[in-house]
Amino acid sequence: MRQNAYAGQCADCGVEVGPQGGFRIGFGEDGFTVCAEHRPTPPPRGEHEGWHTGPLASLDFETTGVDPWSDRIVSYAALGPDGRDLIGRVNPQVPIPDKASAIHGLRDADVAAAPSPVVALRELSAWVDDLVARWVPLVVFNAAFDLTVLRTELWRYRLSQPRWDALLVIDPFVVDYGIERGRLGSRRLVDVADYYGIAIENAHDAACDARVARDVAIELGARHRRVIREEARLAMAQQRFWAARRTMDFNRFAMRRGRRLEPIPDWPFAPAP
Ligand SMILES: [Zn+2]
Repeated sequence: MRQNAYAGQCADCGVEVGPQGGFRIGFGEDGFTVCAEHRPTPPPRGEHEGWHTGPLASLDFETTGVDPWSDRIVSYAALGPDGRDLIGRVNPQVPIPDKASAIHGLRDADVAAAPSPVVALRELSAWVDDLVARWVPLVVFNAAFDLTVLRTELWRYRLSQPRWDALLVIDPFVVDYGIERGRLGSRRLVDVADYYGIAIENAHDAACDARVARDVAIELGARHRRVIREEARLAMAQQRFWAARRTMDFNRFAMRRGRRLEPIPDWPFAPAP
């Protein structure tokens, strides 16, 4: 949660809050300040059963950039529901831009001796198919990025695609937005993890991010019974709606500012460029 840069009044109790004395929640004219005591907190955990109490897999990639259509996988972590994990690096066959290295710390020399992507991609495709066959939901934080990257990489090397249409996906980025509707501002994995009290030791390490995303998903399922469908199948429809609503909220804002509108997403994939 961001500390407030400027003095203000707590939106909850009205007390004066000095610079850095509390938190600034949300953005621009929709944003508000709260005192340290009134920082937003999630509801308590419930005892109910749901997809969050069953087996869950988790996936994360570090890549050469932020465009899921042209950027490549550099490292991957596919955490299985039973502790059988696929974790590794690949040589992306293209240079890693400095901007991307600054995020995940992997440079060309670190992946020069790593295998070509084909071996890992084949394994990952089979791994996703195995989840589909076993009806295990896959947690991916901002799935529209990582799943589009994987699908595009499989196309690029002419490898077979898993049964995407039968895959159950839980996307904590979309679920968090759906619950809060942007009230708490833009929330990256570190922000959402912090909110739910989950430690993140090594952000932008694929295995760490995948583990944290799964822990966050479990907290979301346990703490938001009224908004989260207990069946992963229904949660798919709910997340498609939330992903679309997020874009519509963004476009309302973009329209006021004269910015370019975003296409309605094809969650759990990114809209075509
Ligand atoms: Zn207050």
